[in-house]
Amino acid sequence: MKKLPIFLLIIIFLLCSCAEKRITKQTFSFDTVINITADKSDEKKISEALTKCQKFEKIFSRTNPESELYKVNCGAKELKNEHLSHVINFGIEMSRLTDGAFDITIAPLSDVWNIKERTAPPGKSEIEQALKNVGYEKISFSPFNLNNTKIDLGALAKGYIADRLREEFVKSGCENAIIDLGGNIALIGEYTVGIRDPESPEKIFATIKLKDKSAVTSGSYQRYFEYNGNRYHHIIDPRTGYPTSNSIASVTVISPLSMHADALSTAIFVMGEAGLKLLKSFPDTDALILFENGEILTSDGFKEKYDLKLKNN
Ligand code: AMP
Ligand code: MG
Repeated sequence: MKKLPIFLLIIIFLLCSCAEKRITKQTFSFDTVINITADKSDEKKISEALTKCQKFEKIFSRTNPESELYKVNCGAKELKNEHLSHVINFGIEMSRLTDGAFDITIAPLSDVWNIKERTAPPGKSEIEQALKNVGYEKISFSPFNLNNTKIDLGALAKGYIADRLREEFVKSGCENAIIDLGGNIALIGEYTVGIRDPESPEKIFATIKLKDKSAVTSGSYQRYFEYNGNRYHHIIDPRTGYPTSNSIASVTVISPLSMHADALSTAIFVMGEAGLKLLKSFPDTDALILFENGEILTSDGFKEKYDLKLKNN
């Protein structure tokens, strides 16, 4: 058998058996590296998909003043954009389902924590002030009003975009594609996917074979700063106002829909083992929790469905 080349991705590595027929193109969007791989004959479609990523950024970015979400967060009284409306509605559904452990109104806390630029945690009073403006129940719809909260779609927008791009490739008859939005992977065809080792993110700790699925990992190693020997990462528990601290290193969710996998990996990261019960509401969706001590917990049926190969086996 041919030796399989490795695609180095942000969170997940892929091994594919016919790389010589493939082409990968890259762009930077949503503050992350986007890689799209497909057959060489689909090169034009890859370029179109990368252009679409830039368009989606102008819808979902929380920080770009030209974006639709930015305008909503600044007080726009209507949800005019149908993509934005769809993702916000699903985000609210997830916030309800998780009783607020996942909450799309986390933005006031995301602003205060500003993980990308901070080198020390914010003060207690800043966190308490921000917490007062967090809560999906604050949003009203008729008429639409955020009532002092703000929306952050960082936990699910990439998944939604990956689904839309995948849909375009499928519609155009494409049979092989790897859509990688900073580790949010959506596949057309069968590939071996590697899950990063949170302790040494340049290495993989396990691989799984997936066909036509999406795989998304949320991990405390992805965005963080360290202060006085503590790690402060980007996934915040809306119940405390602090980065979650529950001995989980990463959560990988596999689902036919990337938006589901994306939202669920973040939600389960916050909720821990109790979050696995969420999977019942999503068809054909499974999860793997990797704890800081190296223990692995998988959802019921994961092991029967997927042949998880640990790297040290
Ligand atoms: P992910 O990397 O998909 O797990 O998403 C993390 C991103 O989602 C963060 O960078 C924030 O933008 C946002 N986020 C952080 N904590 C939460 C939370 N508890 N609920 C919803 N979104 C969150
Ligand atoms: Mg997510």
